[in-house]
Amino acid sequence: MEDSKTFEGTSDEHQYFIDDQTLCCLCGTKLDFKHEVDYMKLTVREDADCPCCKIHMKTKEHTLQ
Ligand SMILES: [Zn+2]
Repeated sequence: MEDSKTFEGTSDEHQYFIDDQTLCCLCGTKLDFKHEVDYMKLTVREDADCPCCKIHMKTKEHTLQ
């Protein structure tokens, strides 16, 4: 019997959201994040690799201002 329904509310939900974003959608392994700064184009490229599947999960580019 589980009688402990004392969730800490928003912080738990927030943590779950972050976990969902950083885990491989195929195998659930924690993704390896890399940030590559291109000083010529003034952009930061964000790559997420799964060390298990060896695949790129996402690539985002941010412009530095
Ligand atoms: Zn994976």
